[in-house]
Amino acid sequence: MTDAKSQSFAPPPVVWRKAELLAILSETPRVKTLWLRVPGWPGHRPGQHVDVRLTAEDGYQAERSYSLASAPERELPGRENVALTIERLGDGEVSPYLTEQVRPGDRIELRGPIGGYFTWAAEDGGPLALVAGGTGVVPLMSMLRHRARLAHPAPAWLLYSSRSFAEIIYREELEGLAEKGDRTHVLHTLTRSAPPGWMGLRGRIDREMLATRIPPAAARPLCFVCGPTQMVETAASALVDLGHDPARVKTERFGPTGA
Ligand SMILES: Cc1cc2nc3c(=O)[nH]c(=O)nc-3n(C[C@H](O)[C@H](O)[C@H](O)COP(=O)(O)OP(=O)(O)OC[C@H]3O[C@@H](n4cnc5c(N)ncnc54)[C@H](O)[C@@H]3O)c2cc1C
Repeated sequence: MTDAKSQSFAPPPVVWRKAELLAILSETPRVKTLWLRVPGWPGHRPGQHVDVRLTAEDGYQAERSYSLASAPERELPGRENVALTIERLGDGEVSPYLTEQVRPGDRIELRGPIGGYFTWAAEDGGPLALVAGGTGVVPLMSMLRHRARLAHPAPAWLLYSSRSFAEIIYREELEGLAEKGDRTHVLHTLTRSAPPGWMGLRGRIDREMLATRIPPAAARPLCFVCGPTQMVETAASALVDLGHDPARVKTERFGPTGA
């Protein structure tokens, strides 16, 4: 039973809302960012996600989770605008529709923000060690955008695995952040192919990369690991094995396959 006092501390109910699709940006050949206006949006913490629900004419419904890519501070004018970045999976049910079929002006049902564990906001401090595979970079980008908006002094490292150069999501924005001189370090590794003259890392994220490319356990970084299930499990175990405090290693698993 809840009384009036406990009700006042209860989180707001997560209701389904009809969002309007404002704009679609192409990030890579298979990845699009959707900017949505969500009436009544309550704001979010970087790292949170939404559930998107599609309903077919016969009433069949499909729901999937998508991380919020935007910072809580709005990039597009308007309090209620949020961005999702979605990869098209060839045999997928929902992602091909969201990346190929929708058009500005369409309405999409979503609810959120959801999740309180895999989040970072300025008051949580740093340093930050972000580890991403593929679209796992999306919630980490929300954290980096938030940090940049506030000119937060904590240094941040992003170790980011993509299949190829062309599949690096947010590549130019990440270059811009790294060149700002505000202690943002961006390290790319390419798992399948690299262009001639590639100066970055190659191969999947492994213990060796985690030991040498992000701050050591002694620096007590806040670690966030996000991406395909197998990559997240490998990276999180390696971090703990390297001495990082398990309470400072947070993970989010997006799906079954590897980058
Ligand atoms: C908390 C959370 C946040 C997420 N955020 C994002 C995000 O920001 N951007 C994004 O693109 N996706 C994100 N995902 C994944 C997303 O929810 C869907 O799983 C993905 O879009 C596939 O849905 P689908 O209907 O197209 O494919 P489905 O019809 O569900 O699956 C089709 C095929 O793809 C495989 N598959 C399913 N999911 C994945 C995956 N993630 N990677 C590789 N193969 C997969 C299935 O095994 C199956 O073979 C997130 C997942 C979670 C749990």
